[in-house]
Amino acid sequence: MPACRHCGSTYPREFFIHGNGPRAQVCAQCGLDKGLVTKEEVPILFENQLANARFSTVARRYSIFLYVPFLWALWGFTLSDIKPWGLFFLGLLIVLTLLAPVIFIYRGGRYSGDMARLSPAYDRPKGH
Ligand SMILES: [Zn+2]
Repeated sequence: MPACRHCGSTYPREFFIHGNGPRAQVCAQCGLDKGLVTKEEVPILFENQLANARFSTVARRYSIFLYVPFLWALWGFTLSDIKPWGLFFLGLLIVLTLLAPVIFIYRGGRYSGDMARLSPAYDRPKGH
């Protein structure tokens, strides 16, 4: 992975600007800060809004693995020794726990579609 000349950070190739001389080995953020490129030339540098949308897509994807332990803890603390409902919600929780990986895999296609929609188009130039 190449390192930026200005900030010293390492990124994949997509995050570097292209060109010779002052533009060689410069990351997109430094290129923008030093005025070597315009904002339109570096679509890989996400806007805040796009970054937030990507973050919430990832959060939605993995949220089920946060909910399931939370519901188990809630059940353990409150419902486990209430007579008919403890057993009823135990069954419900077992079903939900067993379904969680299935739901996760089932929603995978939608997730990659959303991420593709939220990824800026990037053409890798020849020689990179
Ligand atoms: Zn840099």
